[in-house]
Amino acid sequence: MHASHSFLKTITSIPGVPGNEVQVARYIKSELEGHADITQDYLGSVIAKKGNLGPKIMIAGHMDEIGLLITSITKEGFLKFQTLGSWFSQVMLAQVWDVITDKATVKAVTGVKPPHMIPVEQRKQALPVEQMYLDIGVASKEEAEALGIRPGQMVVPHHVFEVLGNGKYLLSKAWDNRIGCAVVMEVIRRLDSNERNTVYGTFTVQEEVGLRGAKTSSYVVHPDIAIAVDAGIAADVPNGDAIEQSLGKGPQILLYDSGLIPNRKLRRFVIDLAEQEKIPYQEAYIPKGRTDAGNMHLAHQGALALSITIPTRHLHSHTSIIHHDDYEHTIRLLLKVIEKLDRKRLDQLLAD
Ligand SMILES: [Zn+2]
Repeated sequence: MHASHSFLKTITSIPGVPGNEVQVARYIKSELEGHADITQDYLGSVIAKKGNLGPKIMIAGHMDEIGLLITSITKEGFLKFQTLGSWFSQVMLAQVWDVITDKATVKAVTGVKPPHMIPVEQRKQALPVEQMYLDIGVASKEEAEALGIRPGQMVVPHHVFEVLGNGKYLLSKAWDNRIGCAVVMEVIRRLDSNERNTVYGTFTVQEEVGLRGAKTSSYVVHPDIAIAVDAGIAADVPNGDAIEQSLGKGPQILLYDSGLIPNRKLRRFVIDLAEQEKIPYQEAYIPKGRTDAGNMHLAHQGALALSITIPTRHLHSHTSIIHHDDYEHTIRLLLKVIEKLDRKRLDQLLAD
């Protein structure tokens, strides 16, 4: 397997829902040891600092993935749950999941009625999440407990990683947002000794439930420049929107999302750099949805902020697809941005 494929396979395999990102954090800390000074805030976000001078640049990817939280076990041994992050109920049915207990990983499926039992009119409607349950293949609550199942445990989509088609298309759970974590980790690893500015590679918690880790970590970092790196939306599919959001056409430099109106000069600066360096990019926008930048730009006196996303098909499902070139181009673009951002450039961006 390609070295970057095995890295991406590992980082997407780790279970980590909002509020339970500890295994992801542990992995990132061990991988970045020796590359940066690493601290953690009280919510659990990891901050990897590189450099000591000039403007503070915060580049953040969130560690949490969408998943479920066990709320109760029925007497027949089925599991009821709370969703964590936004799920479209139709993609949840008849899927394989991993319940992470203290002892082991327990496989589960979301139960469904066969069509024979659903009246024709009802088949057109999505089943409400409240009516769903997980089947772990036991006959009673006692048997479920014997497997180590307890309320409060996390459930994540069962991990499958596949290199598809022409070798560029990568399928996995949790691209949102382990691809952002992978980009920020690679930026930190590839950055040479940094004398122009101070980079804070940040890996936030609880983005999918309201950008919560971004709030506390940006208070710790106190950034001048704040860039969120997240999984974005690809619309290059049948019935997709005609706006330019395609796999393989480069990182998406967002014009707008519902949490951030990006700093115009910073956005221009990043686009000009992409043009100069011949790095492909797309100008996307997300009318409904936010990134960590929504909170990162609001700490202290505020920060010049931007969201950069990696286009993702079938976002928020077990089976999302990204394009390997978009991953590499996002890393290259961020390294260029860091290379050019010194105190003088920040002053220019701040000048009216
Ligand atoms: Zn995300």
